[in-house]
Amino acid sequence: MNPNSRLGILYLVSGPSGSGKTTLCRRAADAGIAQYAVSATTREPREGEVNGIAYHFLSIDEFKEKVDAKEFIEYANVHGNYYGTLKSEVITHLEAGRDIVMDIDVQGASYIRKVENDLLQTCIVDLFVMPDSEDELESRLRNRMSDSEEVIKLRLENSIEEMARWNEYTYLLISGNKDDDYEAFRNILLSERKKVSRIQA
Ligand code: 5GP
Repeated sequence: MNPNSRLGILYLVSGPSGSGKTTLCRRAADAGIAQYAVSATTREPREGEVNGIAYHFLSIDEFKEKVDAKEFIEYANVHGNYYGTLKSEVITHLEAGRDIVMDIDVQGASYIRKVENDLLQTCIVDLFVMPDSEDELESRLRNRMSDSEEVIKLRLENSIEEMARWNEYTYLLISGNKDDDYEAFRNILLSERKKVSRIQA
């Protein structure tokens, strides 16, 4: 037995728009704690979002080609656009023992929890991030100036529905101060690695 030999961990990180989950995942990736799985999406890039880093931005036809070619582990329609997790962003990294953080909506997380794939089932840890009230959520969404009023309203409605599903997750992080949130997030990521059950015989 080699105590250093283990598969990677796949952190499914969900939460309403404006919960801060993307920032947490990015910060962990920047700190070298885990890799960020870049999803594909058909939504338009926001200002400052770089193709291949924020997302793989695809046309609807390109997205459908990848669906047909079975390149996704899962995909879903979220707030009117398609988003999907590419196998290439996940599988080989887990096999090589690299931990991955994934920003994913509640539908995608629910699908991955049930997918018939032994590797994924061994590697999943799920975590939900949300603010402590709907008012706080709305103010965060409104402060994100890049979205139109229509988009904000749709996201707010969906987010309130999404927030009701926090109890499907193993970990719950109520977000407040950014640094405290990151500290809590980091502690979860690092503790999960220490589980004896992760060591490969
Ligand atoms: P945004 O447009 O704000 O970047 O993301 C909108 C929603 O899509 C968020 O809830 C985010 O977690 C979700 N999302 C991002 N990537 C994926 C993915 O690969 N699959 C699924 N199912 N949802 C995703």
